[in-house]
Amino acid sequence: CGIVGYIGGQEATPVIVEGLKKLEYRGYDSAGIATLMTGEAGIRRSEGKLINLENLLREQPLHGTIGIGHTRWATHGRPSEINAHPHKAGHIIVVHNGIIENYLQLREQLRQAGHVFKSETDTEVISHLIEETLKTEPDFEKAVRLALTALHGAYAVCVLSEKEPKTLIAAKLGSPMVVGLGAEEFFVASDIPAILAHTREMVFMEDGEMAVFRDNGVSFSTIAGTSLDKKPRHIDWSP
Ligand code: GLU
Repeated sequence: CGIVGYIGGQEATPVIVEGLKKLEYRGYDSAGIATLMTGEAGIRRSEGKLINLENLLREQPLHGTIGIGHTRWATHGRPSEINAHPHKAGHIIVVHNGIIENYLQLREQLRQAGHVFKSETDTEVISHLIEETLKTEPDFEKAVRLALTALHGAYAVCVLSEKEPKTLIAAKLGSPMVVGLGAEEFFVASDIPAILAHTREMVFMEDGEMAVFRDNGVSFSTIAGTSLDKKPRHIDWSP
């Protein structure tokens, strides 16, 4: 339902949690966040309101300057901590808005390839599919492109890899996603209000597009891999 991602010089957790709060009006049943700290991911998830996630984060803080967060409106699998995003498979961590129509077929194929699923969500196939693709295509960005091509349905996704602690990949097809440009920091969200406190320079992603964020900048391309020259728009309305 709601997505917020951050990469830059600040602690990611407060940026993401505050951003998710701005998306609360959309409704959700659970929430979660992942940050990368020198190659190892920390993940916190909880059922119910964001306050539950905030309380958990107070007891078990998450540090790191790159992260992704999600508020979930369950479509496949009941509302629960296990089904809350982010979903992790191997070194790959995913948050997702939308519905993967062919998830049952993909899950069966991945199970046969030895993958063990922890949740009932359609989303979890995305993390496993990227992990599986990495076996034959070790380049993280290329593996994400290939995996996304196999998905039918609608998605806005953010992907992290523990092996690429300075990279965040976002892509969309049929679900909204906007990128915020800051001073040596970047934001990505499913809707403008989530990041308006930080920047007003925004790039609107179109269906079939991908944004790859690294510590030195962001590049836009089609999911198939063609580079795009996308210009930011200045948003001048107040939150
Ligand atoms: N279909 C996914 C799920 O049920 C994502 C739902 C959403 O957009 O929040 O977990």
